[in-house]
Amino acid sequence: MNAEIIAIGSELLTSSRVDTNSLWLTGQLNALGVEVTQKAIVGDDRERLAASIRAALGRAPILILTGGLGPTEDDVTRDAVAQALSRDLIYSEEIQHWIEARFARFGRPMAEINKRQAFLVAGAEKLENPNGTAPGQWVDLPPAMLIMLPGPPHEMKPMFEDRCLGRLRERLPTRFIRTRFFRVAGMGESDLDQLIAPIYTPYSNPVTTILAAAGDIQIHLRAQADSLAAAERLAQELGEKIEAALGERIYSRDGAPLEKVVGTCLTQRGETLAVAESCTAGLLGGRITEVAGSSAWFLGGLLVYQTDMKLRLLGLDPALVAKHGVVSEEVAMAMAGAVRERTGSTWALAVTGEAGPDPSPGGPPPGTIWIGLAGPAGTGARLFRFPGDRIRIRAFAVQSSLNLLRLKLASIL
Ligand code: ATP
Repeated sequence: MNAEIIAIGSELLTSSRVDTNSLWLTGQLNALGVEVTQKAIVGDDRERLAASIRAALGRAPILILTGGLGPTEDDVTRDAVAQALSRDLIYSEEIQHWIEARFARFGRPMAEINKRQAFLVAGAEKLENPNGTAPGQWVDLPPAMLIMLPGPPHEMKPMFEDRCLGRLRERLPTRFIRTRFFRVAGMGESDLDQLIAPIYTPYSNPVTTILAAAGDIQIHLRAQADSLAAAERLAQELGEKIEAALGERIYSRDGAPLEKVVGTCLTQRGETLAVAESCTAGLLGGRITEVAGSSAWFLGGLLVYQTDMKLRLLGLDPALVAKHGVVSEEVAMAMAGAVRERTGSTWALAVTGEAGPDPSPGGPPPGTIWIGLAGPAGTGARLFRFPGDRIRIRAFAVQSSLNLLRLKLASIL
């Protein structure tokens, strides 16, 4: 079963308002096993909206509209639905009395203009609105359903939950949903897709969604079937194939972020971590300490942005820095080794690089990052070349540092 959503309101077509209603409704519909196959935002224009409604009903058996049910001229949803369905609008005295009573509760007479809200599309059922003056409407168009909800989220959500969910559940065939969720580090989005697209594209069920941020890719699988066992079988079959292809690049199956995964591993081993940060200047420590209780395994670190600080606080040899440059394998290793020694941690990560946008005189191109890792068996460093602007480069550097340690702890490096 599929559905479409139309968010109505010219303000939603400006840069100052976001259509959050359809996101929330999509979550609700997905939980019922309904796929949202198309969403639209339409301004307060009756003709345009009527055309969108007709087109959507030609494609989907469930159409939900939000907004445009207020009392003013620019609230065109009722009229547009009547036009699209070639039905009349019928005045409901019952709704008028209800609106009058609501105004009376606030000690005010109902404005004449609010009578516009008492019109129902012929054949529609009103959906009560305890949180505002705009009643919703439900129109049965067997086998289709059209639902009109008010725009303000605090009115729309309870109306959907209290007046629509139960009814939709009764009408929909029972569907069971099973999901899989993987988080992946250490590869780019296009490399990942090249690897797993041949695996997931033959499947229309589960539906696969891939979301990518700097150095962090999320893979969502959503299987649905008419029994829980069948949905689980589908999710498991595709999930196992993707796991086999990605192997250790998957760092989380329960949504936990990389810093939490690393922290859990260090806690289990009874080990600790310290950091020395140059170009990330505290971002790595910040990420680590987003994990509640990280003081159990994270000792702290040094923020050594200027070269002089690397010499004074970490005790780096000026000759080493002069010989290799501050963005180098040797300096990354020396930083990691020094902070490990000074803090007494089991492990130490160090980041030195060029975050751009302009290269430093005589330095490497922006995006060049060396990450050093010192541990009980010695010290090493890796060179990365990250794409993007300063924000992305630094985010990549943090993610890759944590991933380097994760792979080391799993004895993969
Ligand atoms: P009202 O009686 O409040 O006018 P309405 O159904 O006519 O109800 P709109 O006038 O379309 O609703 O929207 C009222 C407010 O609700 C908007 O200014 C906006 O803040 C919020 N709103 C409307 N649509 C959405 C949406 N799709 N997502 C998030 N907020 C919305």
